[in-house]
Amino acid sequence: MHFIDEARVEVKAGDGGNGSAAMRREAHTPRGGPAGGDVIIAVDPQLSTLLDYRYKRHYKAQRGEDGRGKDQYGRSGDDLVLRVPVGTVVHDDDSDEELADLTGPDARCVVARGGRGGRGNIHFKSPWNQAPRTAEPGTPGEQRRLRLELKLLADVGLLGFPSVGKSTFIAAVSRARPKIAAYPFTTLIPNLGMVRLSDERSMVIADIPGLIEGASTGAGLGHRFLRHVERTRVLLHIIEAHELAGPERAPMRDFDTLNDELAQYAPDLAEKPQIVALNKVDLAETRAQVDELRALFRDRGLDLYPISAATGEGVPAVLEALWARLHPREP
Ligand code: GDP
Ligand code: MG
Repeated sequence: MHFIDEARVEVKAGDGGNGSAAMRREAHTPRGGPAGGDVIIAVDPQLSTLLDYRYKRHYKAQRGEDGRGKDQYGRSGDDLVLRVPVGTVVHDDDSDEELADLTGPDARCVVARGGRGGRGNIHFKSPWNQAPRTAEPGTPGEQRRLRLELKLLADVGLLGFPSVGKSTFIAAVSRARPKIAAYPFTTLIPNLGMVRLSDERSMVIADIPGLIEGASTGAGLGHRFLRHVERTRVLLHIIEAHELAGPERAPMRDFDTLNDELAQYAPDLAEKPQIVALNKVDLAETRAQVDELRALFRDRGLDLYPISAATGEGVPAVLEALWARLHPREP
């Protein structure tokens, strides 16, 4: 399945039906005849991608039926409902105005209103004109260009350079099965993993594709995927020891580089609380550096959690630390 997190569509609500010269005024719409259908965007909790909207881009709700013969109603147009995954943000693509942020399972919004139906001739009947020929045309339905953006809803966002072990971590703590490999950018789509700490305690972790230095200028996967950490409440920043990662990278430098990237994309993101884990402590070279790195991070006021996503060592402690950040007042 393809994960698509942005799509542009054009929607047009139904035009109002024209009033008929022989049409009766519609019973429940005192100001007019058969209205055109609205275009509505609604959450479908089963969906997880905006893929459909890459294939079909134009959507049109039904127009109101014209008034027919004498004593006949025109039918109002049916609404057209576009289903999107939870977490979809709807923008007017021309004005850039945010129309809706659909975060709940039942969230929906009208993005284009149907036109009003024209009034039929009966409406224009008067004592001096018992058989008017006047009938109004319907008004056009609203038309809009929309940008749909999916921002995943996760509690915890995973940050880290490529190959530090983010996917391995999420696979270790959840049922998510992201692709894991010893080369960068294996995570081309963000994976969501539901982590259960106990029966009542669960949280969602999003595995975000690797960021590298210069992502803000288009290197690597760029910032496009960072939007999925926007909604998270705490970040788990995974680092690895530098001998393994190459001489030009040091754990603290990696940490700062990623935080600079975050700050450039959205200052709010860099402000989120972070928990830092040093991964791959099952390797002797890494384990040998734990004390030194822990002291470096402590100087910054941060606890460093040594973990091995491969063996599970230290992982429960990190999960508990994340939980404590998410639920400060609960046991
Ligand atoms: P990501 O790019 O951050 O998602 O990294 P991956 O999870 O794809 O892992 C990159 C490489 O590091 C893979 O070869 C993993 O097997 C390896 N790796 C991940 N975690 C550990 C760990 O705890 N210990 C060791 N020795 N290797 C690990
Ligand atoms: Mg990965």
